[in-house]
Amino acid sequence: MQASIDFQLIWGAPLKAEIFSIGTELLMGELTDTNAAWIAGRLPPLGIQLQWVSIIGDDLDMLSEAFIRGMERSDIIFTTGGLGPTQDDLTREAVAKAVGETPTVQEEVVRDLRDYFSGRGTEMPSHNIKQAHLIPSAQFIPNPNGTAPGWWTERDGKIVVNMPGPPGEIHPMWENQVAPRLRELINDEVTITRNVKTMGMSEGAIDEIVGEFFGRENPYLGIYSKADGIHLRVIARAKDEATARLMIEPVEVAIHERLGSYIWGYDDETPEVAVGLALKEKGLTLATMETCTGGYLGNSITDVPESAGYFKGGLVAYSRESMIAAGVPAQVIDSHGEVSQETAMAMAQTVRRELKADYGIGIAGTASPTERDPNGSASQVRRAAGSASDRRSMGTAYVAIVGPGGTKEMELRVPPRRITIKRRISNNALIELKKLIAAG
Ligand code: ATP
Ligand code: MG
Repeated sequence: MQASIDFQLIWGAPLKAEIFSIGTELLMGELTDTNAAWIAGRLPPLGIQLQWVSIIGDDLDMLSEAFIRGMERSDIIFTTGGLGPTQDDLTREAVAKAVGETPTVQEEVVRDLRDYFSGRGTEMPSHNIKQAHLIPSAQFIPNPNGTAPGWWTERDGKIVVNMPGPPGEIHPMWENQVAPRLRELINDEVTITRNVKTMGMSEGAIDEIVGEFFGRENPYLGIYSKADGIHLRVIARAKDEATARLMIEPVEVAIHERLGSYIWGYDDETPEVAVGLALKEKGLTLATMETCTGGYLGNSITDVPESAGYFKGGLVAYSRESMIAAGVPAQVIDSHGEVSQETAMAMAQTVRRELKADYGIGIAGTASPTERDPNGSASQVRRAAGSASDRRSMGTAYVAIVGPGGTKEMELRVPPRRITIKRRISNNALIELKKLIAAG
């Protein structure tokens, strides 16, 4: 593909963009739009400024209206969805209507489509002819992973990029074709981000420690509270990537000097990936026993493809009986309570010993409402009252980690929402494990 217009002459300022996620099922709440966020995250490094995201149903009039308005207020429109062969796939038709051009069949694309189908041992359904239509202002964007080629349309100094709906088709199309072409058009400014992830220090304390960097335009420092701790994001704009990185460096160095031991990861790194890398590097293994997180810890650990190499297994011990069956001494549970630091430590030690792992994690907490909660059911009230020594309160958990790097015990209190409890406590346990491995 070749740019037919010199866009750099037309655009002095950063390119303004919008995204349309197309499909009635998105409006019905049946499908969650992940494509827009995926694309949005790829625009800042290209120097493209996103200003609108819309979800639009499969309706020709509404779609063409949206294209007309979008081409008035933005320089470039990215769309996903609605390029399939069926009656309700109307993206191409809507672009054609918006620019007032008539689509015609492109024989070479019909041939490609026939080949695609015969390669799969079937004949091309006649409906698919639609996917070989093109208007004079558009060019096809090849789609080696599906039947729907994209469209790249340039009209009156504006660009419309139509991509298919399935993420597995968009991602390679973007990386291999759309992004390189955008880079050719816009090379006056890039935005680079460095995300530093911390855990263990409060947002307020961090705010003070790196306070002098806040309030600056470029590089900009943002602070965000997430399920895996407090993130510090440094964003720099410059004429090229190397310059932007040079601008980020002093801020990153200062963050390091002041927050060193609280930092556990960077950029897209997750707690489970960080732990996996640390364990693999030292050739160590891990086993877990958890209550209130209900398997979330084991689930996170096994999200990493290589986890079979270091994860010996995990147990969801959701009752006194299952803890005892797994080998936790009844006497520890009875004298300290199911929700206690002592029980968490016994869980960590037991699972580590039984599964012959280097590290053991025990999580003892409750994700259920307690006697203090007016919505708690009678049986939960009884259960809570029955073990007087339990320090039960929804969102309280005791975490214990044991291994060659030493032991770590923590009492955590997180907001009493089930998913928050699962996520925060699992993440906390993983991040502390990572620190312990690094120290060991
Ligand atoms: P196809 O030829 O597969 O029908 P299409 O371009 O017509 O492609 P759609 O029919 O709109 O695309 O969507 C196909 C599938 O792509 C959806 O069922 C969904 O799985 C996925 N998809 C579409 N839009 C989105 C979106 N905004 N976010 C995430 N997934 C999406
Ligand atoms: Mg479709």
